Amino acid sequence: MSEFSMTLNEDQLQIQKWVHDFAENVVRPAAEEWDEREEFPWPIVQQAADIGLYGFEFISQAMLGDPTGLTMPVALEELFWGDAGIGLAIFGSSLAAAGIAGNGTMEQTLEWVPQCYGTPEKIALGAFCVSEPDAGSDVSSLRTRAVYDEAKDEWTLNGTKAWITNGGIADVHVVVATVDPALKGRGQASFIVGPGTPGLSMGQKYKKHGIRASHTSEVVLDDVKIPGANLLGGKEKLDEKIARAHEALKNPSIRSGKQPAMATFEATRPAVGAQAVGVARAAYEYALQYAQERTAFGKPIIMNQSIAFMLADMATQIEAARLMVYRAAWLSGNGGGFVNAEGSMSKLMAGRTAVWVTERAIQILGGYGYTREYPVERWHRDAKIFDIFEGTEQIQQLVISRAISGLRIE
Ligand SMILES: Cc1cc2nc3c(=O)[nH]c(=O)nc-3n(C[C@H](O)[C@H](O)[C@H](O)COP(=O)(O)OP(=O)(O)OC[C@H]3O[C@@H](n4cnc5c(N)ncnc54)[C@H](O)[C@@H]3O)c2cc1C
Repeated sequence: MSEFSMTLNEDQLQIQKWVHDFAENVVRPAAEEWDEREEFPWPIVQQAADIGLYGFEFISQAMLGDPTGLTMPVALEELFWGDAGIGLAIFGSSLAAAGIAGNGTMEQTLEWVPQCYGTPEKIALGAFCVSEPDAGSDVSSLRTRAVYDEAKDEWTLNGTKAWITNGGIADVHVVVATVDPALKGRGQASFIVGPGTPGLSMGQKYKKHGIRASHTSEVVLDDVKIPGANLLGGKEKLDEKIARAHEALKNPSIRSGKQPAMATFEATRPAVGAQAVGVARAAYEYALQYAQERTAFGKPIIMNQSIAFMLADMATQIEAARLMVYRAAWLSGNGGGFVNAEGSMSKLMAGRTAVWVTERAIQILGGYGYTREYPVERWHRDAKIFDIFEGTEQIQQLVISRAISGLRIE
């Protein structure tokens, strides 16, 4: 267990600079174009793969080789400082990777996580498919069914997934489906649908408010057949979990295990918080410089307390959000776990900070801030996603209120 410290070590400082340089020189200059095109930025992801930022090696080093837990948030803040849409295009496969690592065996993780990234010669993508048209926050109501054929040792998946980052364009789809609907969330499992599997197709591609360079689509599963080995965690573990859950239905004092989707979200929330901090910092830095250059009534607008104090509050809020993200990331990697839902707290705080800071940045730029000539309006559109995905603002509040009260708040 490492001591809690905010001081970044040599490796982390180097990674921070490396990602920042990429964000500044490659991502930011491309951001406006890909936002307007609303297409997946393949050439930029390719460049990230060429330098080793997009790939299995970097992700495994940053996640597994770092006892402090801070390397990922540090890297993500810089990347998303460059642009959130492109940032998610580069980071999206990691949601699938986290779903595999969180629920799969070591063999499954080593087999499938590299396939979520491919190689610089042939990049691949991963997608993590939980949400459905009628089940977003309420993950326990998934309708996608997984049915097992024992004779063939084969699963058949049917259903429609909604809002899936990299959905339909990914090579590896990690699908959370219900095996035993009577058990709701406790009767679900995660499955790998490998490259080119018949029956998986892309449904509608969503036209979004922000992060428009990130691809978001429905994923349709129509009699998708996958081998028994593609059940994450294995059949024996699933059978035990389901038997326990049935026992728990009869006797509520028995614990029946975690829902697979929830386990993944718990681990990834501080990372989403770090992304939000990156967007907030981009807008704050831009507004700070603008306020020093723009004059009104014969002086730079920053010389008005109302503007300077706004910037002071923005800086303070970002600092607070980053500290919460670092602490939650450290807790998730250091065995102690979350006591008061610190992961959810950090994501809630950082998401709100990003929305508020980017809105204030528009205010500081005045009319210019409201146009597409300046990036702050894009950052404001992008920021809103952090209040929505990987658990909405209200779902974080629900998790936190249950943790602090010990009560089943509804
Ligand atoms: C751009 C984008 C990318 C995404 N990527 C992925 C992905 O890769 N994989 C994936 O599986 N999903 C993904 N999602 C889905 C995302 O996680 C869901 O949109 C989110 O969880 C909310 O679900 P919903 O949209 O169905 O809203 P709903 O659950 O219908 O919520 C609607 C409103 O009701 C509130 N609400 C719901 N329940 C409660 C409650 N109990 N108490 C108080 N308020 C409540 C919510 O906070 C919200 O304000 C993505 C979404 C977007 C927009």
